Amino acid sequence: MEYLSVTDAQQCILESVKTLGAEPVRLEQSLGRVLAEDVRANRDLPPYDVSAMDGYALRSADLAKVPVSLEIIEDIRAGDMPDKQIRSGQCARIMTGAPLPQGADAVIRVEDTLAAPGDHVQINVAVKSGNDIRVRGEGMRTGAVVLTAGTEITPGVTGVLATVKRAQVQVYRRPRVAVLSTGNELEGLADPVDPDKIPNSNSYALMAQLQALGIEPELLGIARDDPAELEEYLRRGLGFDVLLVSGGTSVGVHDYVRPTIETLGVQMKFWRVAMKPGHPVAFGVLPGNADGTSKDTIFFGLPGNPVSSMVCFEQFVAPALRRMMGHGRVYRRTIAVRLTHKLKHQPGRTEFVRVTLAKQQDGYAATSTGAQGSGMLLSMAQADGLMVVPADSAGLAAGEQVTVQLLDGTVFQEDVGI
Ligand code: AMP
Ligand code: MG
Repeated sequence: MEYLSVTDAQQCILESVKTLGAEPVRLEQSLGRVLAEDVRANRDLPPYDVSAMDGYALRSADLAKVPVSLEIIEDIRAGDMPDKQIRSGQCARIMTGAPLPQGADAVIRVEDTLAAPGDHVQINVAVKSGNDIRVRGEGMRTGAVVLTAGTEITPGVTGVLATVKRAQVQVYRRPRVAVLSTGNELEGLADPVDPDKIPNSNSYALMAQLQALGIEPELLGIARDDPAELEEYLRRGLGFDVLLVSGGTSVGVHDYVRPTIETLGVQMKFWRVAMKPGHPVAFGVLPGNADGTSKDTIFFGLPGNPVSSMVCFEQFVAPALRRMMGHGRVYRRTIAVRLTHKLKHQPGRTEFVRVTLAKQQDGYAATSTGAQGSGMLLSMAQADGLMVVPADSAGLAAGEQVTVQLLDGTVFQEDVGI
């Protein structure tokens, strides 16, 4: 099999992965989920014309000459209904959100007025008809779709859902994901330190990448490089919606993952991608039963090298999981930035370089975290993003514009920036 390009591999994945079914969730538990239904307004908002300011509701025609003194005939608070009509020479004291009385066509804010003797107020500036009035339905209209299926529930969306009184909403289900590490050399997190072993970091880095997507995975543990033991673990993993296996996917004689998973019925779609780090990455599907009694299981075989595992997760696993959860936006945000130094690159494979980002006057500048070995996990710990070096690039010059995928932890900054 040929090496696939990164983008062909991503396309293959998105063509093979289906959005999961919907389930109801309480509004209080819905942050980060994706709406599986269109949501409509259940009333006009505001329900009638209301004041946008604390001030006075009046007839704008009365302000042909200012200053002018108007008689205050009523006090209208938010929650009150006015019961008097405003006639020429009159006004009503009105609070923000309170309904506009009959006869009034404008509001003037209190700051543009002066108290006057008796029940009067002096208006100092003229305003046009409609001034500081929120018109009925300007926020939303009964029956109008205010949120569409596929919308991620952010705090702003939560506010809208509460406004339209949705105490419960339909969201897409989150996949159940199993994580399995393989390798005789691996030492578990709770095991005593053995200088001859390699600590199992991949299970936990993958767990954290999943948690960052809102998924709580099941860690299946460590399988030895033994076909029978591996088969037992893989069987268990194939009971989930998604199985991530780290290590053992390469072409070494003890890399049993691919042959074993194929005997268990997984149809392998690809196992080689022209990328660096991470080319021994495998993707396959175990089809569900035609009668719908079982669902597809998605399988990813990730490279054992810790950086490769994480980079492949970002490129392939995250988009697949986000598609399953109903997101329209499945890829990480990319930004165009300037590279601070030159970078060597042999044409052939798409390279993902760990970079830090520094804010400059005209945008951001990217700098490599240093040596880019696929086992150098500290580079992932330092990185703000992954710089994408196109497969056909023959190297980059200092100052060149490059594309960086932003990693988690990049949304906040030290300086206020405004
Ligand atoms: P493999 O893909 O199985 O050939 O593994 C490649 C390299 O990644 C080896 O040096 C392994 O020691 C290392 N590796 C494999 N699995 C893990 C893991 N779960 N955590 C940390 N390193 C690993
Ligand atoms: Mg191995």
